[in-house]
Amino acid sequence: MTRKADWYQEGWEKCPGQGTGSLKERPNAAGSVPGRYAGLPSDGKITPDKLFGHLKTVTMHRMLVAQGCFQIGLYWQGLTHDLSKFSPVEFWNSVRYYQYGKQSPNNGERVAKGFSESWIHHKGHNMHHYEHWTDYNVEAAKRGEFPIRPVQMPRRYVAEMLMDRIAASKTYMKEHYTQHEPLKYYIRGKAGDLMHPQTAKELEGMLRILDVRGEAACFRYVKNYYLKGYPVVRRVTLSPEAAPMRRSSPT
Ligand SMILES: [Zn+2]
Repeated sequence: MTRKADWYQEGWEKCPGQGTGSLKERPNAAGSVPGRYAGLPSDGKITPDKLFGHLKTVTMHRMLVAQGCFQIGLYWQGLTHDLSKFSPVEFWNSVRYYQYGKQSPNNGERVAKGFSESWIHHKGHNMHHYEHWTDYNVEAAKRGEFPIRPVQMPRRYVAEMLMDRIAASKTYMKEHYTQHEPLKYYIRGKAGDLMHPQTAKELEGMLRILDVRGEAACFRYVKNYYLKGYPVVRRVTLSPEAAPMRRSSPT
């Protein structure tokens, strides 16, 4: 199994509103955008403007996600979304490598250290990130294949991931936001083999409802149908970009 870089999902979710680059950028064949993780060099110092800038970003993002989660009945998740950003490892690294609204502080941290402790902590503590849902697959290991495989996400976390993406898209696009943006971002930043194909199908299905029918209809579907455990809408056409995920999957 090949592993593809996933610049998009991570940059987006860790960095609400800070964007993941120009809309003119297009993924290459592997689905990644060159230079996407390249943050701005930072002196790594803690300053009041970085501190308050980061605090504001996190608070605005949490409020937007909470609004969405409340509308679909996920009250606890709405209240606790991304709370680990206040843990010391995430908070202080994000302040130190704050990118002044240009992109995720994780990218600045990567420039300085080669990896982001903040992100590694974040994905480990937040179940609305599909990167959280990977595990060693015993059957794959027996076959001698690369054993780390995606695990299907429970629906309530897929729904929270949807709200996270909508919120990030709104913050990032500001007055240019439309109901079409979250799907566009998903297609551009597909998770490849790291997201379970069923999870990808469910997420893309909801994003397509949002794209075609708007937020009210989408949220009604999520609340009254998807989160009630009904079968996922069948006729969701996977985008050509997303289709290989199904083919490469064992399910
Ligand atoms: Zn998160």
